[in-house]
Amino acid sequence: MLVRDMPRSAIVTDSVFLKHQPGPYHPESPQRLKTLLDLAGEVAGSGAGYDLLPLRAAVQEELELCHGTGYIDLVRSTSEHNQFALDGDTITCRDSFGVALMAVGGFLQVLDAVAASDYANGFTMVRPPGHHALRDRAMGFCLFNTVAIGARYLQKAHDARRVAIVDWDVHHGNGSQDAFYDDPSVLFLSTHQYPYYPGTGAADEVGSGKGEGYTVNVPLPAGCGDAEYLAVFREVVVPAIERYEPDWLLVSAGFDSHRDDPLAAMAVTEQGFGVMADALLELARKHAGGRIAFLLEGGYDLSALRNSVATVLDRMRSEEAALLDADGRRIAPRIREVLQIHEKYW
Ligand SMILES: [Zn+2]
Repeated sequence: MLVRDMPRSAIVTDSVFLKHQPGPYHPESPQRLKTLLDLAGEVAGSGAGYDLLPLRAAVQEELELCHGTGYIDLVRSTSEHNQFALDGDTITCRDSFGVALMAVGGFLQVLDAVAASDYANGFTMVRPPGHHALRDRAMGFCLFNTVAIGARYLQKAHDARRVAIVDWDVHHGNGSQDAFYDDPSVLFLSTHQYPYYPGTGAADEVGSGKGEGYTVNVPLPAGCGDAEYLAVFREVVVPAIERYEPDWLLVSAGFDSHRDDPLAAMAVTEQGFGVMADALLELARKHAGGRIAFLLEGGYDLSALRNSVATVLDRMRSEEAALLDADGRRIAPRIREVLQIHEKYW
């Protein structure tokens, strides 16, 4: 059922994101965004309720919400080099710093638009991705941690009290986890292939100090598909968010857990991403006044990426959530382990 009187959905993307060139053989290629630019143009012209928002660059003060000034200076200095390796697989060109500012600023534009109730929800399709970036260190194709900056920005600019970040990228969002590890004002939940890059994300990483219990990791064995992911959402992700009652939901939407993705070994389909999106949209309606923003992280098979993003965009315009009906028997012991670890906090 399409809801005709619901506010429109915001999309941020732009050809500027093609300018970040990590090298000709790098999987995080400009082609990823070319594919999504085409998709965004189609859906914005479809009359189905999507608008493309204008971009802006993030300013220094916004980057400093999650990064040190020395590190920001280092990334800025990469614009003096044709090519610069911030780490083994995080390569920049002269335009990368400027593009990364637009990626962060674009996400903040969507957050502002949803906060003002001008839009029902939003999807930010930008690159480079962000969830591996630490306070003072680039890693895993990521320069600045866009989703983490977004959560801090909501607290600062929009008085958010409890922000939930759900990270369904196939890799553990170590940078996002790190940013809020001792902070109960942001609940971080991640599903990821494990053990796998970047090595973090064990079930017993639960936060520390006041943040203990507010980091929820669901490490999954290779080969998990829709049934397993939906079971994890039904048994762990949805109940945790229900208890937390966030006033905002942010989604680190990586599509490298798709069955066709060349970088990892999961088996999620575009329909699976659609049902996960549905579950989060429903939670946002229930607890957060509908406030939810999806942010692109990974996803390296071009047609899987396009089809998965298209499915999520479609679900953003619906108020009818699909059921989380899944047989997760294969990973029931892992789900039990995660629930037992978190029992004392809930
Ligand atoms: Zn990833």
